[in-house]
Amino acid sequence: MCPGHRPDSSYINIDFVLDIIDQLQSAGIKAIVLSGGGEPILHPNIIDIIKYINSKGINIGLVTSGQRNFSYNKMEYIIRSLTWLRISLDAGTPEIYKLTHGIDQDKYKTVLNFIQDALSARKKTDSQCTIGVGYLTGWNHEKEIEDYEQAALICAKMGVDYFQLRPLNFSNKVYEFSDYIKKSVASINNKMRLVKSRHKYDFFDTTRIDYRRPYKYCHISYFTTIICVNGGVYVCCDLRNQPTACIGNLHQKSFIDIWKNVNEVTAKVNIDNCLPHCKNDNANRIIDRILQNKDNNHKNFI
Ligand code: SF4
Repeated sequence: MCPGHRPDSSYINIDFVLDIIDQLQSAGIKAIVLSGGGEPILHPNIIDIIKYINSKGINIGLVTSGQRNFSYNKMEYIIRSLTWLRISLDAGTPEIYKLTHGIDQDKYKTVLNFIQDALSARKKTDSQCTIGVGYLTGWNHEKEIEDYEQAALICAKMGVDYFQLRPLNFSNKVYEFSDYIKKSVASINNKMRLVKSRHKYDFFDTTRIDYRRPYKYCHISYFTTIICVNGGVYVCCDLRNQPTACIGNLHQKSFIDIWKNVNEVTAKVNIDNCLPHCKNDNANRIIDRILQNKDNNHKNFI
């Protein structure tokens, strides 16, 4: 179950996954992120999936809740295969974990063990896998600020590479948190790299009333996509399962054929209805600035 408390035990069939990976390789895909909506490591064949992607020479990133114990051999294999791993911790204590994840607080220990096992496996295998921990802010509970520091210190002690902060939504807590992060960056940075979705925190401003985008099209959708458990290929993760943002379904067409529709579907997305701080907003702004630059005489060489 995800922090959005959406119980759904369906998972993607292994033969279908392997076929999709073959298609993605043929299409020249460079990297795959295994990530939620659901929880990738709960898939019964997750090791086979990682092995298969690895055998195709495609880079793998994994975003996970870390709520599963693997044998040491399996963890070693995972860490050797990944380019990067990010574990969503979102809490500095079991009590806050229960609040932010809506599940038994004992699971907090499982996640800390997962992080520790991943770090130990990296050390043993000499893997270059980057291991980070995520902390989602914006739950509006009283202890949020002190809890974030507590979580960061636990991770620093364990030796994770970075601690990532990002806002769940924009509320007064985001503004308050943004100020607090600015002050506390130095103290955390001394111990570990602190990464924050700065474009999101800085973007929100109590005085701001206009969150419209300066660009008219979602440029980044031509470079990246998501594939859902139902085989649907969507413009982006925020618009997953929305029929108007569906480029096609892999149960009906090949990936190469589906991708021929990307221009048509993306052009119809009304980005005024998108979340102001979507994951790709910053990339869209950068690409748009390049395209709109009147002094750029070589637009087709971006
Ligand atoms: S939510 Fe963001 S990434 Fe998705 S279509 Fe809208 S602008 Fe693009």
